[in-house]
Amino acid sequence: MVKKETEIGGKKSLGGASKERARMGGGRRVREFDKEAWKPKTSLGMKVKSEEINNIDHILDNRFKILEHEIVDILMPNLTTDLLLVGQSKGKFGGGQRRVFRQTQKKTQEGNKPKFGTFAIVGNEDGYVGIGYGKSKETVPAREKATRNAKQSIIKILRGCGSWQCGCKNLHSVPFAVEGKCGSVKIKLIPAPRGTGLCVEEECGKLLRIAGIKDVWSQTFGQTKTKINLIYACFDALKRLMEVKLQKENTENLGIVEGSVGVQ
Ligand SMILES: [Zn+2]
Repeated sequence: MVKKETEIGGKKSLGGASKERARMGGGRRVREFDKEAWKPKTSLGMKVKSEEINNIDHILDNRFKILEHEIVDILMPNLTTDLLLVGQSKGKFGGGQRRVFRQTQKKTQEGNKPKFGTFAIVGNEDGYVGIGYGKSKETVPAREKATRNAKQSIIKILRGCGSWQCGCKNLHSVPFAVEGKCGSVKIKLIPAPRGTGLCVEEECGKLLRIAGIKDVWSQTFGQTKTKINLIYACFDALKRLMEVKLQKENTENLGIVEGSVGVQ
């Protein structure tokens, strides 16, 4: 009944929408994307809207820059989003519990002005993944910014079975060992046999899981307490999978697959 009332006036209905969003706060965004209402600003966006480009691979292979997150919304409708624990709570008993939002403060004449930063990951659990950092004065816009940035930075990864102990041709691990770096943090992802699971730091595990990797061993160096750098390093390692030049016979023999296998 309340809903009906809010739908009458133009301004009132807006209030209803924001209330609805506030109620959803904390959970995942379920709002459907409206393709007709979207007005693309870049030529790439226009091509996507007019269905001249109907495949994300075309964009990624040609290294076009995605400047509008709606492009990814259209081309990859079934993405899952997750937030990483990059902050910690304050308060009694030591505080320090891991939180999604990273709180920072600026001293001003009026007092302390807090800001919230958060880290989002998106992926289809089948070879595509993106990460993004968003910062704002409030939590909800920070989360939205982060998801938007994550969608714009989406990449395709290589998967395969590079383990000597396994030798199957399933896509459960990385095809070869790779290293990534950010700041002082270095991370090395090593192919592991089936059933190993993700032997990495927890937040990196989330990133790899959403990318579609199931088994991996890892080694880290440097200040891995700096969570944000660790996640960037892990993403860098995934990026470097694509930078290796592979010969066609090798990809066929080892069963390496680029991007998704088409279950999508
Ligand atoms: Zn295997």
